[in-house]
Amino acid sequence: MKALVWRGADVAVMDVPAPDRVPGRALIDVAFAGICGTDLHIRDGDHPRAKPSLILGHEFAGRLAEPAGGLAAGTPVTVEPLLWCGRCPACRSGARHVCERLRMIGIDEPGAVAEQVSVPAELLLPLPATMDLRFGAFVEPLAVAVHAVRRSRLRLGEVAVVVGAGPIGLAVATCARLAGATEVLVVEPAEMRRERARELGFTVVDGATLTAAREAGEGVGQVLFDTAAAPAVAAATTGWIDPGGRIVLVGVYSRPAPVDLQRVTFAEIEMIGTRVYRRDDLETAIRLLDSGAVDPRPLLTRTVPLAAADTALDLLRAGSEIKVLIEVAA
Ligand SMILES: [Zn+2]
Ligand SMILES: [Zn+2]
Repeated sequence: MKALVWRGADVAVMDVPAPDRVPGRALIDVAFAGICGTDLHIRDGDHPRAKPSLILGHEFAGRLAEPAGGLAAGTPVTVEPLLWCGRCPACRSGARHVCERLRMIGIDEPGAVAEQVSVPAELLLPLPATMDLRFGAFVEPLAVAVHAVRRSRLRLGEVAVVVGAGPIGLAVATCARLAGATEVLVVEPAEMRRERARELGFTVVDGATLTAAREAGEGVGQVLFDTAAAPAVAAATTGWIDPGGRIVLVGVYSRPAPVDLQRVTFAEIEMIGTRVYRRDDLETAIRLLDSGAVDPRPLLTRTVPLAAADTALDLLRAGSEIKVLIEVAA
């Protein structure tokens, strides 16, 4: 079968053996898969766990190639792409998404930018029969936003600041508005993404404007979501939030970043870590898409065929697209 493989120095669409049939695992005919910042880290050799010859892809939807997990062949599905150890304190307490040895499909095991992918059957999440499978491929990134907004304890009438207007930033902004934020301020340097944020009804601001407003004693916002995870941003975000505010870390920092802990102390800022999602966040993301509460179409800006999947990473890196999907089979 054809698959998008990280070869160590680059990525390429290659012929690879199809996954074996294994008891307890499900074989999925992939329809659509998304590419995200994690895949760029892997290609750059900047991911601590990924090993060359890896098939990329952890956000995807397709149809069951054969019956599995009590579901019939042909059932549209997405998956919870997490592989947890089941033994560490996090797993034993029911928080397996923060497992000390958490592994992921598409990072530690072969991913889904491929004609077929094999996953443990317990990870399957059936999709409504009427759902566009492009939307199904957006369940995983949307669940990151659902999880972050739930962790933020956002309350009706609050103002949210979202740093970064990539797919996760715009999904967080959308969920924050749904959760009751009366205004969502978006900080983003890239003009195309600023424009997209404006089209979605968010207020685009510069970090310097937030700093100036706060120093002038004006309110800025009560909850800030950092989806950019850029070291310079970590140092600045504490200045972009009102005293008593919460900073929710959504993006993944590759290495330790400086933070103004004096501001954290003086303003009693609460810093909240978030990692991926719980199963319930994925189920909620499916309901948000199925009900129409979240329309992902403005975020799904580009679809490329599997044969050109290697170009998807360049498109994403160029910063002129929001979400890039790979169409394996419609
Ligand atoms: Zn991702
Ligand atoms: Zn564990």
